[in-house]
Amino acid sequence: MSQNQSPLPGQPHIARNGNALMVEQVSLEALAREHGTPLFVYSRQWMLDALAAYQRGFEGRDALICYAMKANSSLGILRVFAQAGCGFDIVSGGELARALAVGADPAKIIFSGVGKTRAEMRQALAAGIGCFNVESEEELDVLSEVAAAAGQRAPVSIRINPNVDPKTHPYISTGLKGNKFGIAHDRAVHAYRHAASLPGLRVVGIDCHIGSQITEASPYMDALERVLDLVQAIEAGGVPLHHIDFGGGLGIDYNGDTPPGADQLWHQLLARIDARGFGSRKFIIEPGRSLVGNAGVCVTEVLYTKPGEEKNFCIVDAAMNDLPRPAMYQAFHRIEAVSSSGHGQAKDYDVVGPVCESGDWIGRDRLLDVQAGDFLAVLSAGAYCMSMASNYNTRNRAAEVLVSGSRATLIRQRETIEDQLRNELAGD
Ligand SMILES: *Cc1c(COP(=O)(O)O)cnc(C)c1O
Repeated sequence: MSQNQSPLPGQPHIARNGNALMVEQVSLEALAREHGTPLFVYSRQWMLDALAAYQRGFEGRDALICYAMKANSSLGILRVFAQAGCGFDIVSGGELARALAVGADPAKIIFSGVGKTRAEMRQALAAGIGCFNVESEEELDVLSEVAAAAGQRAPVSIRINPNVDPKTHPYISTGLKGNKFGIAHDRAVHAYRHAASLPGLRVVGIDCHIGSQITEASPYMDALERVLDLVQAIEAGGVPLHHIDFGGGLGIDYNGDTPPGADQLWHQLLARIDARGFGSRKFIIEPGRSLVGNAGVCVTEVLYTKPGEEKNFCIVDAAMNDLPRPAMYQAFHRIEAVSSSGHGQAKDYDVVGPVCESGDWIGRDRLLDVQAGDFLAVLSAGAYCMSMASNYNTRNRAAEVLVSGSRATLIRQRETIEDQLRNELAGD
């Protein structure tokens, strides 16, 4: 970042250079004119810095950072993490194919999810992945059967549900009793004994993941105690556990949120792990959002402004199919003008997309000085945006650009209507 640029608060790789908003050394307006909008733009340096915070936290430990690619599974993003030595946390056969496509080491791939199919299990066994994180007792039986039929023993962890409240949105909390993830804490010892008895399985570890956008250390501390209690009980029952996987879930700053830094969080957690005598284990973590969330912005063009009696609307060319988090979780994204020169007509707007749903809003009650043809940047759009994008309203999915210093690389071409119609058959 050059001297005359001033970074946005909480966004060290996005800055104003005069009136112009820049990602690293590249102007967002120039990218929007070259590639069209809506356009996702990512800072490679932000991702590497976020990864470095985890690496500092685990310095001197036997640890594997598996990027949870459902946060953003674009190949250009995966390649950054593969080249940095990360493993991957996958949740489908499709995500396995993506990891292999960027040259990921299969031994560093772990496979999570409550509904793995037999075909996906076979695909992952053939690839030689490092671990299946199994989420139910029935899944243990099926995986054993599939592996045995292939003449293999599948490496497994059981995802246990520690029943702690991550204090986040209910849709993204996963470690409470009432949700579908993992095996209940009080069934865990039994499930491990069962797993150890099955011919097609090799028990390698234990796993938990309590939720997402967690902004405090305390839910992790609570889960940690519960998991370590279980490690003791399971090993006392004669099943050794080689690694402990603490999942992902660390939050990012969307709107003045103050999650602990990954390095601070892990120093704190590892101090407690050391105190309980587990410090020399192998640790796995599965961060997603915290590795990409604030690396990305979505640039969108203002199509119309529409004054109203109760509300002014700013209608933009990005919509809930590109940025689904507000519609799904009422999530907040900061919105900044790409050029701050303005028109001297700042108003309070609801920023909305063209999709025919009232749920299609991107930001509410935002003070903006805009007119048609201006570009806006929707911030914190690196995670759970493009990977959740859809074709609702037959809208083509956006293009994506990866920025590194002054270099911008197109990593996804804008989808075309031909792409969308390719697999459809109108019938007779
Ligand atoms: C989604 C998910 C993650 C990543 O969560 P983030 O909040 O993006 O860090 C990790 N592990 C599992 C099992 C997940 O489902």
